[in-house]
Amino acid sequence: MLNTTNIHHLSRKNIQALTPYQSARRLGGNGDVWLNANEYPTSPDLNLKERIFNRYPDPQPQAVIEGYARYAGVAPENVLVSRGGDESIELIIRAFCEADDAVLYCPPTYGMYAVSSETCGITTKTVPLTADFQLNLPEIERNLNGVKVVFVCSPNNPTGNLIKRSDLLELLQMTVNRAIVVVDEAYTDFCPEATLANELVNFPHLAIIRTLSKAFALAGLRCGFTLATPELIGILQKVIAPYPLPVPVADLAAQALSQQGIEQVQQRVNNVLENRQKLIENLQKCPNVVKIFESEANYILVKFKDSQKVFKTLWEQGIVLRDQHKALGLSDCIRITIGTAEENRKVVEAIVKSP
Ligand SMILES: *Cc1c(COP(=O)(O)O)cnc(C)c1O
Repeated sequence: MLNTTNIHHLSRKNIQALTPYQSARRLGGNGDVWLNANEYPTSPDLNLKERIFNRYPDPQPQAVIEGYARYAGVAPENVLVSRGGDESIELIIRAFCEADDAVLYCPPTYGMYAVSSETCGITTKTVPLTADFQLNLPEIERNLNGVKVVFVCSPNNPTGNLIKRSDLLELLQMTVNRAIVVVDEAYTDFCPEATLANELVNFPHLAIIRTLSKAFALAGLRCGFTLATPELIGILQKVIAPYPLPVPVADLAAQALSQQGIEQVQQRVNNVLENRQKLIENLQKCPNVVKIFESEANYILVKFKDSQKVFKTLWEQGIVLRDQHKALGLSDCIRITIGTAEENRKVVEAIVKSP
């Protein structure tokens, strides 16, 4: 027996108490239909071009920054690239929150706002979305004291709806000189007209999160972006790792952001929207489906008579969905990522047969 010492008590108290993010991969499952992580169902065909690996990479590779700036309709100075959108969430908290500041977010929403805050030892305040999944602005305003960062996800994960533009603008007005407003646009590619990117010039405290994990079909790459004023980008540059982007990631991301790559994004988006419509129409015919919520993204939230039964029945058949039963206000709801036409057909068939 060499090492029986318990070191648990040596870890920070907030880490001892932390429930880590329940990622789709961590939750496991077995099967061949994976509709639980909002990934694109097929991979783009990319090959490494870069052959030099002995040198450290460019911290902010120009081809990636310029390519994404062009795609997003902003200047390269407005773009920071990081290890997925998730790293952006953490960078913002680390750069802006003192130990006694708070982070505010509006459940049901993306789980990483809470996990990253708790990891950093930052208090969280929650102001639930309204019954129609919109911001409760008066309640947010009442809770702003001590809040340094507000996270809003639009389209919201897991509900699928957009947050009203007028409400986001009101939130930005309300927080001037007080807090950073982060608008998480991970799913913007599926509804590009709704972006707040054109508001960056008006609001120096606005940060927008983007990713290549969804419509770019590159979740395995781990590449995301923050869009903000050069001043805010400069603050995040101070806390980001020295070389956040591996050479192969920068190489493949630059290719994905070429004109041809962007055309493929548009084809994927069209494909998802078409398959989403078909899936909704077929689910509407299922007797155990209670409600299908409006979606502007590559997933739909569905309420069932007994979601636990449906989830488990499909799980046992190798069809893995994302259970939302425990999310605030989402009892009996399951989130279903839009898959290939074939995968969606299997899902509907299994739901029809489910007890
Ligand atoms: C997928 C996702 C992200 C970022 O994902 P990365 O893979 O880390 O780029 C951020 N926010 C939301 C709401 C997401 O669904």
